[in-house]
Amino acid sequence: MTRDLVERKAARLLADGKLTVLEVTGDRIRATCVGDSGKTWHLGWWKGRWGCQCPSNAFRRGCAHELALKRVVNEPVREPAGLTAERFRAEQDHANRVRESA
Ligand SMILES: [Zn+2]
Repeated sequence: MTRDLVERKAARLLADGKLTVLEVTGDRIRATCVGDSGKTWHLGWWKGRWGCQCPSNAFRRGCAHELALKRVVNEPVREPAGLTAERFRAEQDHANRVRESA
């Protein structure tokens, strides 16, 4: 498949709601995508790289599923050293307070 076709397929997968993002954390993204065959593939980002279990992604060429996922989530960026666990919790508490008062 040419790059252009992969792009088009990725756009179609997104438009058809075939991609489901399950989890996004600082160091991991997990998602599933229903391919044209009707099979559900697991894909995501972990250990610093993207991956998909489907056969067209063998040899790390990148597949439409992976491309679709890249369009909706950005590769996690390592938090700057200034963001400690303590500060993160404080930010969360703040966000919760805002939500409760809404
Ligand atoms: Zn794939």
